[in-house]
Amino acid sequence: MAGQLDALMDEARSLGLFKTHGAFEVHCSNCHARLDPMGDCASCGLIGRPEADVAKRGQTDAAGTENLLRTQIARRRAYKPVKAAREPA
Ligand SMILES: [Zn+2]
Repeated sequence: MAGQLDALMDEARSLGLFKTHGAFEVHCSNCHARLDPMGDCASCGLIGRPEADVAKRGQTDAAGTENLLRTQIARRRAYKPVKAAREPA
């Protein structure tokens, strides 16, 4: 299933999801939501880990890594930047 994982990595990369945060960063650099304990953003789908780390994990935990990528890609697809939304003041 390595091909599937590669495709998901490509997709996540094309969406710009790989954005490594500083070790003590707790807020998303993209949408400023609070990051989850793994450093990933549940709001906009950002993955706060180096792409190489995710790829490495994919070699030992392909199913878990595919799941992570799928989840974050779906979140990014559903994410609407605050600027584009009309919020009542
Ligand atoms: Zn975010």
